[in-house]
Amino acid sequence: KSVEEDAAIQYLQAQYAKIVPGDIKTFKDFPLSQKTLKGLKDHNYITPTEIQKQSIGYALQGKDILGAAQTGSGKTLAFLIPILENLFCKKWTRLDGVGALVISPTRELAYQIYETLRKVGSLHDFSAGLIIGGQNLKFERKRMDQMNILISTPGRLLQHMDENPLFDCSHLQMLVLDEADRCLDMGFETTMNAIIENLPLERQTLLFSATQTKSVKDLARLSLKFPTYIAPHEQA
Ligand code: ADP
Ligand code: MG
Repeated sequence: KSVEEDAAIQYLQAQYAKIVPGDIKTFKDFPLSQKTLKGLKDHNYITPTEIQKQSIGYALQGKDILGAAQTGSGKTLAFLIPILENLFCKKWTRLDGVGALVISPTRELAYQIYETLRKVGSLHDFSAGLIIGGQNLKFERKRMDQMNILISTPGRLLQHMDENPLFDCSHLQMLVLDEADRCLDMGFETTMNAIIENLPLERQTLLFSATQTKSVKDLARLSLKFPTYIAPHEQA
C-alpha cells in the first residue's frame, strides 16, 4: 500500500510543472490527491474561482505567492488545497507536529477557515486546531503540539509562542497570511513581524491582501521569497 501511495505522490508531483492556469476548468484539472478531490466534490466545490485557478498551481509548485483578491473571491480554498497537498505529499503524520499555519485577522474569519478545512480535508488524516483566544488557554496549550494545521489570530498565536513551551513550529512547511491588510489595519504589525521572525526560514509563504498598501508591501518583503504576484480580474 505504501508503494502505491508513493507512486501516486510521485505522479502528482510530476504534473505540477505542467499546470496551465488558463486551462483549468474544474478542480479535477489540477493534479490533486483523491482525498482532496473527494473532499471538494462532497461539498459541491466543482469549479475553481479565478483566484483559485491562478494561485493553486503556483502554490503546488512550492512558490511563494502575493495574492491581491477581494472578499468573497474564494481565498480560503486557494490556500487550504495547497496546504493539504503539501502535507499529503510529505506524508505528514500527527507525530510530525505543526506543518502549516494560517493567520487570519479575526476569530470569525479564523473559524470559517477552520470549518472549511474540516469539510474539504475530512478524508485526510491531519489534525487541525483553532487558536483564537476567548477559549481556555490551558486547553489550547496541551493540544498545540498535536496539531498539524493551525488556524489562528495574530495576538493569540504570539501569546502561545511566548508562553507555551509545548508550542513548536520548527518543522513548519507553509505559512499563510490571510487578509494581511486587515491584520495590519487592526494594529497587528509588530505582532505579525514577531511571529514571522519566530518561524523557520525554509518554508513556503502565501500572502493574501485586498489592498496593496505600503505596510502590506513591507510585510511581503519580510515574509516572502521571490513571490509570484497574482491579481485576478473579477468577472462578477
Ligand atoms: P474570501 O476568503 O476570498 O473572502 P471565501 O474563501 O470565504 O472567500 O469564499 C467565499 C464564498 O464562496 C464561500 O461561501 C465559499 O464556500 C464559496 N466558494 C469558494 N470557492 C468556491 C468554489 N470554487 N465553488 C463554489 N463556491 C465557492
Ligand atoms: Mg477569507
